[in-house]
Amino acid sequence: MGSVKLSSVQKKYDDLEVVRDVDIDIEDGEFVVFIGPSGSGKSTLLRMIAGLEAISGGQILIDERVVNDIPPKDRDIAMVFQNYALYPHKTVAANMAFALKMRKQSRAEIKRRVERAAEILDLGGLLERYPRQLSGGQRQRVAMGRAIVRDPKVFLFDEPLSNLDAKLRVAMRAEIKQLHQQLGTTTIYVTHDQIEAMTMADKVVVLRDGVVEQVGAPIDLYDFPANRFVAEFIGSPS
Ligand code: ADP
Ligand code: MG
Repeated sequence: MGSVKLSSVQKKYDDLEVVRDVDIDIEDGEFVVFIGPSGSGKSTLLRMIAGLEAISGGQILIDERVVNDIPPKDRDIAMVFQNYALYPHKTVAANMAFALKMRKQSRAEIKRRVERAAEILDLGGLLERYPRQLSGGQRQRVAMGRAIVRDPKVFLFDEPLSNLDAKLRVAMRAEIKQLHQQLGTTTIYVTHDQIEAMTMADKVVVLRDGVVEQVGAPIDLYDFPANRFVAEFIGSPS
């Protein structure tokens, strides 16, 4: 089960408070989007959930376990970044297997998981190719494959599509949603793109300057924005 709970979470860089007393409740299986302007603390929140950044105060619980002091590799989460650097000298299969080798999985188990991910992502025919032989969309799918093979409780995406052209972005949105429907894995997806947020989310968390301005279903944010900031931010075209 992959619930995620943030309780009074804070982040300070010296005197700069970039996340202030954030409370967020995410249920197992939800697709939650964090949206806010650049600098609002989205990546910092995600990195704290992943364990890549220490928290300055509060608690983070994954699957009802406090993970404040648990290292990233033991948190059962997998993160997909915007700059999804694949290993250029490794094949698609080896790129996906790498995270598992680091975790000392058996060869048979690695093979099983890579084949499953390839099937889910429709990469079956490409397993022996190298990244340079792939299109942008295929590379993005391999990056997702590296997350899927780990069979995590939670997927974290940090603006995964912002380097893709508009047409591919729309296609990949649909793929990520489909992946979520298929696997049912709790997903936290960061974007500054309003359309992406409103079309993909079960629940949207609107951030500004490290503060949660509103949490709600997309339709509720449209119909009942909590304040002028939310109304203008959600309502404005990206
Ligand atoms: P977002 O992802 O919403 O654009 P970030 O979480 O990256 O925002 O950043 C939030 C704030 O924290 C910004 O003001 C940013 O400059 C600051 N920040 C991020 N990382 C660091 C760091 N390592 N040291 C100091 N300030 C940082
Ligand atoms: Mg960011």
